[in-house]
Amino acid sequence: MNNQSMQLVEIVSKIAELAIRRACGLQYSLEELPPSLRKPAKEIIEQISAQLVLRDKDTLRCKICGKGPFTRKGLYLHIRRVHLDQVYQIARRELEDYLWRLRNT
Ligand SMILES: [Zn+2]
Repeated sequence: MNNQSMQLVEIVSKIAELAIRRACGLQYSLEELPPSLRKPAKEIIEQISAQLVLRDKDTLRCKICGKGPFTRKGLYLHIRRVHLDQVYQIARRELEDYLWRLRNT
């Protein structure tokens, strides 16, 4: 694996983690990401988090499998435990789309 793809894997895992936190309404910070990626990462995180959670009044449900209701922390743990690979895949696809557009526009 070369340096660039290694870096991509790290960034994908950070974006996935932040998206789960965002989806669950927990605090998250973009500061760990490279400055040039913070703006697009914020949009990517919004897109991913919208795919993870169903909000019904005051309750939170998992949008991927429908389980719930959960507390914020409970949903965070559920998504990390059960769906982390899927969130990685979504994050990777979104990031690659962004990088592709960057190179080709
Ligand atoms: Zn689930």
